[in-house]
Amino acid sequence: MSENRTELSQLGEFGLIDRIKSKFQNQNSTTIKGIGDDAAILAASEKELLVSTDLLLEGIHFNLSYMPLQHLGYKAVAVNVSDIAAMNGTAEQIVLGLAISNRFSLEAIDAFFEGVQAACKNYNVDLVGGDTSSSAAGLVISIAVLGRVEKENVVQRSGAKANDIICVTGDLGAAYMGLQVLEREKEVFLSNPDMQPDLEKYEYLVGRQLKPEARMDIIHELRDKNCLPTSMIDISDGLASELFHLGKNSNLGVKIFEDKVPVDHDTFETAIEFKLDPITCALHGGEDYELLFTINPVDYDKIKNHPDIHFIGHMHNDPSQHVLVTKQQTVVPLQAQGWNHFGH
Ligand code: ADP
Ligand code: MG
Repeated sequence: MSENRTELSQLGEFGLIDRIKSKFQNQNSTTIKGIGDDAAILAASEKELLVSTDLLLEGIHFNLSYMPLQHLGYKAVAVNVSDIAAMNGTAEQIVLGLAISNRFSLEAIDAFFEGVQAACKNYNVDLVGGDTSSSAAGLVISIAVLGRVEKENVVQRSGAKANDIICVTGDLGAAYMGLQVLEREKEVFLSNPDMQPDLEKYEYLVGRQLKPEARMDIIHELRDKNCLPTSMIDISDGLASELFHLGKNSNLGVKIFEDKVPVDHDTFETAIEFKLDPITCALHGGEDYELLFTINPVDYDKIKNHPDIHFIGHMHNDPSQHVLVTKQQTVVPLQAQGWNHFGH
């Protein structure tokens, strides 16, 4: 916490809303009227409207002892934009519900909104409204996002066909390993507050946990290359669990190859250091927010040289068989188990 502490009560709810409003400028032509009336006014259009929402609860989805509020604000927006990306759409507006306990100063809330602002700018999204309340317990953030996509370009989880190639962007397991590092440093810090955490070596992993990006860059590139995925999902719960979603919704089986699953060098080394299996981290570690999609094999040539798209396997006709071919060429069943918020 900073040395200057202004109580939110000094500003009041309306003061806070005015302050939020003053920090945001609308960028999208579909935003007719943003913050300031009983409801925002958005232009209807020929395109399909995509709507998604995410709830972020302190102690369940984030831990403020290692999540700076600025990063939390950024991440809250990025994960919503990622859901729209996964439908092959473009996010244009968000609404933001906030419940704030009196532990938070105005400076802390300002830091949160700095992150929200940075993400809105980066993804070209307008904050068009929300609701603000006090909270008896922790911080609660609820964001709904609105996006648009031409009817013919919507991509659902259900569109994959047998023999479609399974593609994944970026690398996997890094956000999960970043979380392991942060948890460990927190323990060290709690047992000896004089110890400064040494995170430099883990900069990439911690960054992947604290500042995930929605892969809108990939959505634009696929469009430029005229490559329309047949099915798509963003990886929030882990590759294996998302593969199960594609398989189930498309009524197909999946077959992936361990040696094709992208794992960064730092993820690999740190997993070993933590006595974890790197491929398990890549399969089941969540929060990478990469895109998992399938393409018709005729489109392969269009994207085969893309440096950040990896081809990890294919869909097949037997919906009861989701398998991983290991580096030793053994075929093992994929486990769906993600790290969900109910089981732990
Ligand atoms: P109401 O009483 O109709 O709920 P409010 O006083 O809560 O209205 O909100 C006034 C305006 O400020 C509305 O346009 C609302 O969408 C906006 N607003 C309230 N809280 C937030 C927030 N956390 N982020 C963005 N806009 C907000
Ligand atoms: Mg309200």
